[in-house]
Amino acid sequence: MSDGTLLVFSGPAGAGKDSVLIEFLKKKVPGVWKSVSYTTRAPRKGEIDGIDYKFVTPEEFEKLIENNFFLEYAKYGVNYYGTPKSCVDKHLEDGDVVILKIEVQGAEQIKNIYPQSIGAFIVPPSLEILEKRLRERGTETDEDILRRLRIAEDELAYSSNYDYQIINDRLEDAVDDLTAVIRALQLKNK
Ligand code: 5GP
Repeated sequence: MSDGTLLVFSGPAGAGKDSVLIEFLKKKVPGVWKSVSYTTRAPRKGEIDGIDYKFVTPEEFEKLIENNFFLEYAKYGVNYYGTPKSCVDKHLEDGDVVILKIEVQGAEQIKNIYPQSIGAFIVPPSLEILEKRLRERGTETDEDILRRLRIAEDELAYSSNYDYQIINDRLEDAVDDLTAVIRALQLKNK
């Protein structure tokens, strides 16, 4: 993994991973890079191709799998999500903390490839609050929300496998906690 550190950032849909990351990235902390994943999911309102995700068709995604393009990939609900390998390697060689915002199946694959990677899991204060946040977001259908809540229960059971748990009750506190984890990784002796 050379000089950099892989930070796997997971947590159930609606726990606030995106909000925490967006606020953290606004700080422009030097030496930190967030990977942009590929997905077959349709863009949500406001999402930009190449920034939030690279949006591709299932056929394109399957071709990329065949070409060994991905470091890891997983099916989440009905869609594929995957991390492109080459950019991650480059940033690790540069010594960056590389953030992968991925779900738990992908996180397991990463742990097998990079046993030294570090995991941070973002936890909602409760499942009730999680459901409320998902419904308020208004970006998914009822069916999709129920599917995400079922996955969330399974994912929460996984959280103890991660090195750090960040409770997202107040957004500012969760952002401070993530900042502290990343600072500690940058100061770590390798
Ligand atoms: P969403 O559709 O809400 O953007 O993402 C659904 C789930 O897929 C989230 O848990 C998100 O972290 C995860 N995800 C996003 N990109 C990747 C990826 O490249 N690989 C894997 N395994 N999961 C991803």
